Formats: sequence, C-alpha cells, structure tokens
Amino acid sequence: MHSLNLVVHDNIPLFKCSYCGKCFGFLESTSYLKIKMRGCCWYFPKYKLIDIKNILNIGREDFIKEIANLTNSKIEKYHIEVLGYFDDEKYNKLKPQVKDFDSTLFFKLCPFFDKNGCRLDFTLRPHPCNLYLCREVIEACGLEYESYNRERKDYFAYCNYYNDLLAKELQNNKINLIDNFDDSIKLLKQVHIPKFDFRRLREIQIKFENEIAV
Ligand code: SF4
Ligand code: SF4
Repeated sequence: MHSLNLVVHDNIPLFKCSYCGKCFGFLESTSYLKIKMRGCCWYFPKYKLIDIKNILNIGREDFIKEIANLTNSKIEKYHIEVLGYFDDEKYNKLKPQVKDFDSTLFFKLCPFFDKNGCRLDFTLRPHPCNLYLCREVIEACGLEYESYNRERKDYFAYCNYYNDLLAKELQNNKINLIDNFDDSIKLLKQVHIPKFDFRRLREIQIKFENEIAV
C-alpha cells in the first residue's frame, strides 16, 4: 500500500507520494532515454520570483547564486530556468503520437535528476515540481484527491498573485534579474509577503489496481 501526504516547510509544500520513483509503465514516466526510471522528471525547472523568494527566506541565497551561474541556466527578467537534456535527434526519428500528452517529454531529463532521483531537497525546487502528480496516481487516490486538488489550485493562485506583485516591485525600482541581479536579490530579500495558510490534509492510502512496482 502506498500513501500521499502533504508536507510543508516554511511556505514550501510537497505532495509526498511514496510511489514516486517506483513507477514503471505510466504514461508520464515513459522514457526513451538511457535512464528509464526517471518518473516524470522531464521538467526543466523554472524558478519564478515566488520560488526565489521562498528559497531566500530559508536562507539559501547561495543556491540561487549557484543556479544563476550554471552554464545551462537561462536568466530572464523575472525568472531563472535551468535547462535539461533533450534528445531531439531521437525524437525527430521516432516522433511517437500520443493523444492529450506532449510526447517530446519522453525524450527529456531534468538536470537535477541523478540515478538516485532528484538530488535537490524539496525546499530548493520550483513549486510545480513539488505539487505535480501524474494521472495514474490521481486516479488511484479516488475522490479523496479532491482536497489535495483544491490545496494545489489555491497555492498556485497564491504563487501567481505574489509572483506578479514581486515583479511589480522590481519594475517600480527599475531593476530585473538580467541587468541588476544582485540588487534584485537584495530587494526580494527585503520585501515582505504573507505566508500561505495551508490546510491540514489527511493522508491518502493509494491502491493501484494492477500495481507494477520495481
Ligand atoms: S507523479 Fe507519477 S509519474 Fe511522476 S514520479 Fe510520481 S508516480 Fe511517477
Ligand atoms: S527538480 Fe527534482 S523533482 Fe523537479 S523535475 Fe528536476 S529532478 Fe524532478
């Protein structure tokens, strides 16, 4: 039996699913790469201002500087994206057709994934990473997932709202991450934003009908 829980550390939530990393044969975990068991870690992490602010609040300015200096990072005015691997050659050769799913993801790998899974503590990931669940897990949770779904939507709305507000703060001060990185970080550290009020969610026992664990 597997479980899903909500874990929170200082305004940063995680949907902790005990099945993640053990999934094989799920649509989202399909991999045409050498690394097969990478779950749905095909995402190229995009750190929005709200993620940067949360990470600064836990005292990890060093990590923000580290990702900003990676050769595979793309710094934009109001976010930092860390690019991963995409086997475009294989994709162009195979181009699998899948209904309602972007099949390029089968050929992608997050730069923070290593053989033991994600090498970042969850507090250092952008929020979509921590709250994403594949359709198979959601389905296996049944009706009980509704409270998690609502929490996810509310936290995303909170992030969008305060992300816009932080961008406006930078604009009002005529600075951005591309042209004034250090000043932007200094300002983000100073701005106060209220924390999200998380609900207490009950653990869900997940039961897959045809469990394929490896
Ligand atoms: S969300 Fe689903 S596909 Fe992604 S790692 Fe967890 S079980 Fe695997
Ligand atoms: S940051 Fe971690 S959890 Fe997010 S996609 Fe990359 S390896 Fe997966």
